[in-house]
Amino acid sequence: MELLKERILKDGTVRPGQILKVDSFLNHQMDIDLINEIGKEFYRRFEGQKITKIMTIEASGIGIACITAQYFHVPVVFAKKAQSKNLDGDLYTTKVQSYTHGKVYDVIVSRKFLSPEDHILLIDDFLANGCALLGLIDIVKSSGATLEGAGIVIEKGFQPGGQAIRDMGIHLESLAIIDSMTEDSLTFR
Ligand code: 5GP
Repeated sequence: MELLKERILKDGTVRPGQILKVDSFLNHQMDIDLINEIGKEFYRRFEGQKITKIMTIEASGIGIACITAQYFHVPVVFAKKAQSKNLDGDLYTTKVQSYTHGKVYDVIVSRKFLSPEDHILLIDDFLANGCALLGLIDIVKSSGATLEGAGIVIEKGFQPGGQAIRDMGIHLESLAIIDSMTEDSLTFR
């Protein structure tokens, strides 16, 4: 998606630990006109597939998922990061290792909001090692719902998540795939 790539080149900055900071337009301050185009593009890429719900993980995925859902006219369910002590029986749970903070946390979704009749599109801001997406996939599998695919805004193609997800046969659409990045240069696939 050219508009997104141009914006990453203009406003993205590379931080130690192979972290791309895009907080001026995507995941802190949010450029809604751009995210609206992102939502439209996800709709174009998954149009024709049966999708009954969009699922994401808090916090950065929520805004993007909501704008995308306006094109699909379906609800958004976001997985919550939780304390193990608070977990009760009416939940799907999994564990996810945070890329940016390193620690492992529990992720939960209420059983009320996912059922075997659902067809799920996963949406998130970044794909790096794939832990966040694999956690969401695990929850979808536990619920018996059908996974229709995953839409990612920025995939860091030099990290292993994208390959792992594609190798599972999952329909993965990333709007910008970064091949390499340093403080002075960034290239797309
Ligand atoms: P993964 O689980 O695929 O390793 O990492 C995905 C999650 O980590 C995303 O939900 C995102 O919040 C965060 N993340 C991974 N890489 C980056 C990055 O380069 N920049 C930012 N801002 N977040 C990232």
